[in-house]
Amino acid sequence: MMKTCTEFSPFLSAYGFEKALKRIKSLGYDAIDYGEFCHTENKIFHVSEEEFATSLKREREIIEANGLFVNQTHGAWRWPAMDFSEYDRAERYAAMEKGIRGTALLGAPYFVIHCIMPFGENNPEHKEELWQMNIDHFSRLCKVAEEVGVIICFENLPFTSLPLSRWGETLEFVKLMNTPTMKMCLDTGHASVYGDSPADAVRAIGKELLATLHVHDNDGHGDCHWLPGEGVIDWVDFTNALHEIGFEGCVSLETSVRHEGDPALWDAKEKELFAKVRAMANGTYR
Ligand SMILES: [Zn+2]
Repeated sequence: MMKTCTEFSPFLSAYGFEKALKRIKSLGYDAIDYGEFCHTENKIFHVSEEEFATSLKREREIIEANGLFVNQTHGAWRWPAMDFSEYDRAERYAAMEKGIRGTALLGAPYFVIHCIMPFGENNPEHKEELWQMNIDHFSRLCKVAEEVGVIICFENLPFTSLPLSRWGETLEFVKLMNTPTMKMCLDTGHASVYGDSPADAVRAIGKELLATLHVHDNDGHGDCHWLPGEGVIDWVDFTNALHEIGFEGCVSLETSVRHEGDPALWDAKEKELFAKVRAMANGTYR
């Protein structure tokens, strides 16, 4: 049976670490998407190597003691893009490498990451150079990932002028890398920004290469990160596609109920949202 997963960071901000885990578990989720490696401003990037390891091992213990596991983490990236100089890219590489090591310490199988964008996210030119720079960057990172037993999941993006963004390009890149250490994260909302059907993407990527998901909705234009059902994505078709290919990963949300206003209202909305995720995982979404 497919498992269910939610992004952790919004719960962490709303409830604090332990209460967030208890809340996620009580809603019924199996796993979390750990977002603390996403921004290098986060505390975890500013502690000693020893504290980095100790605190992540401790977090893993608490997560598992609460009956959950970390399915996926999200690696460091910047928007707007800031990968222009050698110095910028070396800094990004180091942050990504740290995230991969942290992912292993958390016991998570998957590290989700975006391409580097040395020409910005809105530049349709330099495709060959862009791809070559990413091949070099990720060939090095794959060695680190392999060493610690983590799989890098390359994510499709919503930047319609970037020639390494649409899901077909992301898939082509992963196939070109041709290593068991690199698979794909399908972001449903990012596919929808192009007017693409996430269900078609699932069927084309297939069971072998589709490792992780970022599930969220939008209006077919903007990267809104709406809840499933609030936008234009056909979730029944998406659910069917996951079951057709025999997807074995987690149905993982990259959106959440806003924790503002009356907490009593969060409760009903969070339960309703989980029911949708469970239905996708069970193949009963209607
Ligand atoms: Zn995403």
